[in-house]
Parts: sequence; structure tokens; C-alpha cells
Amino acid sequence: MNIIEIINKKRLNIELNEQEIKYVIENYVNGNIKDYQMSALLMAICINDCTIDETFYLTKYMIQSGHTIDFSSIKGPIVDKHSTGGVGDKTTLIIAPLVASTGLNVAKMSGHGLGFTGGTADKLEGIPGYKTNLTEQQFLNQIKKINVAIVTQNEEIALADKKIYALRDVSGTVESIPLIASSIMSKKIATGADVIVIDVKVGIGALVKNVEDARKLSKIMVELGKKYNKKVICILTDMNIPLGLNIGNNLEVKEAIDVLNNIGEERLTELCITLSTYMVSQGLNISIEDAKKLVQAKLENKEAYNKFLTLVKTQGGNIDKLKESKYIYPVNSKINGFLTNIDAYKLGMYVASLGASRNNIESPIDYSVGITLNKKINEYVNTHDILFTIHSNKEITSFEEPLSAFEISSKKTSEKELIIEIIK
Ligand code: URA
Repeated sequence: MNIIEIINKKRLNIELNEQEIKYVIENYVNGNIKDYQMSALLMAICINDCTIDETFYLTKYMIQSGHTIDFSSIKGPIVDKHSTGGVGDKTTLIIAPLVASTGLNVAKMSGHGLGFTGGTADKLEGIPGYKTNLTEQQFLNQIKKINVAIVTQNEEIALADKKIYALRDVSGTVESIPLIASSIMSKKIATGADVIVIDVKVGIGALVKNVEDARKLSKIMVELGKKYNKKVICILTDMNIPLGLNIGNNLEVKEAIDVLNNIGEERLTELCITLSTYMVSQGLNISIEDAKKLVQAKLENKEAYNKFLTLVKTQGGNIDKLKESKYIYPVNSKINGFLTNIDAYKLGMYVASLGASRNNIESPIDYSVGITLNKKINEYVNTHDILFTIHSNKEITSFEEPLSAFEISSKKTSEKELIIEIIK
């Protein structure tokens, strides 16, 4: 077998067989296939797409390239959630303790953010003392003890994905549906949950920009799950405007605490309840209606909040020590009218530029910086009303850039549905 023949075959849009895909993954991981050859193959995949069989073999050999977690020592089903990434997405901080408070085991391995989307691991590491790098045994022990743990991904999980993802990032091959599907599912299957609810974000602030692509991606991930006897449910949700009222690590932790105390923003709360409901319904094998009632009860009686406090304390964190930024800038609107759009991508990029995410893997994160939104879509804004507040550790003299993310019009807009579709 030869990599050049395989690249040529894919370039001519001829389906690759299992042996060829196995050869590619194994030889890329061991260094026999070079980055420039893998880039050419990834580009051919981007252009010509993959069949479901090809996507399955990619996933299979990516899983086999690394370590898999053995949960056999844990009693009861393990449930997990994943988000394809968005701006202001702090749902894991709320959902993991909420679902765990119903008695299910939540074993969550989260990533760091890169670029304009934040990562749950960064939000947790912003809580002074919180340890995300538990050993696998500590991770399992904690789930046995308090039935929830949120850690960073074990370095050895889906090794091929790590290498391929880094290459996709610099070769214009991130936005390919079979590559996204195999990347996500190889990690989710290797980390072992029985039920996986995936929040597939759609819109300007997401990797997938339109509903058709999100639908296609979701159907493939559900199919891949079936092949591994995993129940995968994909919930397509809007990511044109930021989720909730805060973007930035510590601000998002505080907002998650508000939701757990029943004073959270409505869209964010609705999304957390929906994602949790599907996890609980599948995990406990009860109807959607009963699962929703249970989830709402756990929020109302504060068991979910208490579970969050236990989770943070068990992993060494102290939420009373979240830091404030040095400067706080309330930014006023220059015009009046209805707020009709808040560009999630622009604000995500702006918050990243304040220091909220890494430019590269070594750069430090400024956990206290970010933006709080003071107005909601379709709210009337008077000139000089505070539109948003910037939390920064450096002085800012011009607000034109973040202001350009806000659109104010004389008429209200038709609000976009948050939950677009559920595919299972
Ligand atoms: N998340 C992943 O883990 N991989 C992708 O390719 C895209 C989003």
C-alpha cells in the first residue's frame, strides 16, 4: 500500500477501503506519512466528502490509535455531553452537576478553547485551586464518590485526532463534515459514555454555519454511535448571538451559578434544561416529560447547585476567590432603537483579544476579562443606555470594535429559535 496511490484515489473521488484507512491512520501517527501528504489527503476529503463507511473506518482507527477509558468498575449508566463550540457556552458547568443530582454518573472530559470559542477546562481552571488534571484513577474514584467529575482530556485519548486536528487547523481543512464527525466521535467513544448528547451549534459564532450541514453532521454522528452501541442525540441550537449574558471565563462561572440558583438568563436556562432532559431521559430510561420535571425540580430545590459546590470543592476549587478585572467599562449606545443583533463571532474574537483565550498552547489566560451584555435582543435601547460592559486588565480608549457587533434598528427582529431540531 502506498500513500500517493491513496491520495490519488481520493482525489478522483473513489471510495477508500478499510485497509487503506487503517494504513493512513497508523502510518500518520507513527510518522511514516508526512504532514504534507496527510494535508493533501485531508483536502481531497474536504472536496470530495466521505461515505458513511469511510467515516466509520476513520473513527474506528482514530479510536484505536489511543487509549480508551474503562468504566466497568462504575455502577449505573454513564452520560456525557459535548458541544461543537460556541461563544458564551457555559452549559457544561450547569448540566454536569444538574444531571449528576438526578443520580446519574457524569464523566466529562473537556477541552481548552482555542480561537474565539471558549473551553470548559479554561473556565474551571479560572476557579482558584480547581484541578482539571486528575489521573484516570482519581477521575474514576471521584465519579464513584460524588457521581460527577470534569477534567481535561487524557493526553492518550484518540492520539490520531490530536495530530490530525492540529494539521487541519493550519491546512484549511477544519470545516469538513466527515472530519468533524470522526474527530468528535473518536474522542467521545474512547471516553466511554453510554449516552452522549451533542449540542451542535449552528450560525455565525459556530463551526457549522448552516442548518443543512448541521443536520448532515448530526445524522452521521448518530450513525457512528449506533455502530458502537452508544445512544447519541444531537440537538441543533442557534449560535448567531452569544449564549447567555456573559463571555469570559470567570464571568461565565458566575453566570452558571446564577442559572443553578434559578436566576439565570432565559435562553441559557432553557438550553441547559433541554440538554439535561435528554441526558436524563435516556440515562434513567424515563419519558422526556418526566425527565424534564425531574431536572426542573433539581434546579428548584438547589440540589443541582449543591452538587456544583461539591464538585468544585472535591476538585480543589474555591468559588469565593474568583477575581475581578482591574478596569470595568460600561459602554453606552450611541443611537436609540431595538437591539436586533449581537454578532457572536465578533464578540468572541474581541473577548479573546482581551486575553480570555490562548493565542498558542503556552500563552497564559486572563480569567477575569470579558464582556457582560446589558441589553437583550428586541429590547429598546435609548441613546446613552449601557449596551454592554467590558471587563479588562488593560486600559481601553476606543470601543468601536465591540460596538460594531451590535445592530440597532427602528423595528424589532423576528427572534431566532434557540432549539432548531433534535436528531436521534
Ligand atoms: N470539535 C472537535 O473535537 N473536532 C472537530 O473537528 C470540530 C469540533
